[in-house]
Amino acid sequence: MTCPDFDWKGFVLDELPAPERRRMEEHLQSCAACRQEVESYGLTITAMHRLPVREIPRRISFVSDPVFEPNWWQRFWASAPRLGFASAAMLSLAIVVHAFATRPPAPVATAANAQVEQKIQAEVERRLPAAVDAALEAKVQAKLTPVMTEFSGRLQEFEKKSRDQRNADLRDISSAFDVLQKKVNNVYLSAARYGGD
Ligand SMILES: [Zn+2]
Repeated sequence: MTCPDFDWKGFVLDELPAPERRRMEEHLQSCAACRQEVESYGLTITAMHRLPVREIPRRISFVSDPVFEPNWWQRFWASAPRLGFASAAMLSLAIVVHAFATRPPAPVATAANAQVEQKIQAEVERRLPAAVDAALEAKVQAKLTPVMTEFSGRLQEFEKKSRDQRNADLRDISSAFDVLQKKVNNVYLSAARYGGD
């Protein structure tokens, strides 16, 4: 339930003459319903100000009354430097509060610290992919290097072994050949000795 004779929208938008405004402020002291209405208008207006402001088409604003004409701060708020201004203001506020907060921990610093942390987080996220790539590369390199070293060691070992093996085989073959030749010689010798032919 609200009291119908008050223009709370106009009150929130600060469009009312001072006496009317004073009367309404007095009423607000004793009326919870109107306080609630004012609060909800305040929230709505805050939410509306966060929406992107689009330029009103010329033809409509031409036929409409100056209600549509934005006041100076609305024009400022809708202007291009808004974001730059807002973020610069927030950053400097965060820096100032952070500077104060680093000495004695004040409760007011929590929000600003969260903002600073968000900025750090964003920066970390921005740099993370490259860092991950580098770390991964280093990790792969670290894992790969001993494997490659071991592999080339094994390869050399294998080459040496097979070379040695071949030499051993050759030695075996030549000694076997020697043995065979000696046997053949003995056969010839004994044939010559006993055959006497
Ligand atoms: Zn009321």
